[in-house]
Amino acid sequence: MSLEIVRVPCLKDNYAWIAHEPTSGATAVIDVPDAAPILAALKARGWTLGDIFITHHHWDHIDGVEALRAATGARVTGAAADAHRLPPLDRAVAEGDTVTIGAEAGHVIDVSGHTIGHIAFHFPGAKAAFTADSLMGLGCGRLFEGTPAVMWQSLSKLAALPPETLIFSGHEYSASNAKFALTIEPDNAALISRSDRTNAARARGEATIPVSLSEELATNPFLRAARAEVKRAIGQPTASDAESFAEIRRRKDTF
Ligand code: ZN
Ligand code: FE
Repeated sequence: MSLEIVRVPCLKDNYAWIAHEPTSGATAVIDVPDAAPILAALKARGWTLGDIFITHHHWDHIDGVEALRAATGARVTGAAADAHRLPPLDRAVAEGDTVTIGAEAGHVIDVSGHTIGHIAFHFPGAKAAFTADSLMGLGCGRLFEGTPAVMWQSLSKLAALPPETLIFSGHEYSASNAKFALTIEPDNAALISRSDRTNAARARGEATIPVSLSEELATNPFLRAARAEVKRAIGQPTASDAESFAEIRRRKDTF
């Protein structure tokens, strides 16, 4: 891996991700729930922050941006579609744009659904995708702004990334998501195994993120909505892929 990626637990269950490209020393952070733990992690490693990449406007992802910018002078990049409700941006981006951390290039992907204007950052050279509240460990973000069809389209883009890609999401939700996933696919052996490993890791106080896309594809019910066995499992064998996704998301909302 050509980026060194550090998990920074923030607030109750958020993760900020610091990504460091060792050749150049360039360092970026993806989302800023809280500045203090990020500054402490940077200081502990002697890294200088050059960039702040924002995924979406929710407070638990941007609350520390201004404090972190003031402390480091880092440039702030976020979605043009979200600019009206983000801290002032030094650079506004949209799907297809490229951001860099030293020698590593990251592609901006529009993953609207949780919010409109939510973006993810995919660094193919580092086999890493920062997905925040779009694709999450065994889950996906609640649909505050987008329709199920919009979120399904967003998840489909992420599902098409190389399967070895590590998915760095924005929260530690895997244990509660596993409980729900098992209500959809109680006989999925890969899911049962992952649920067991998730619960064991959480009991030891360990993080469960990141997880590879291949493991998400085998276990995450939202990514699996198009599969015939999942449509049968929810009693809607003839549903479209987006309808199947919508039904699973509806069930999760009241789980
Ligand atoms: Zn959010
Ligand atoms: Fe969030």
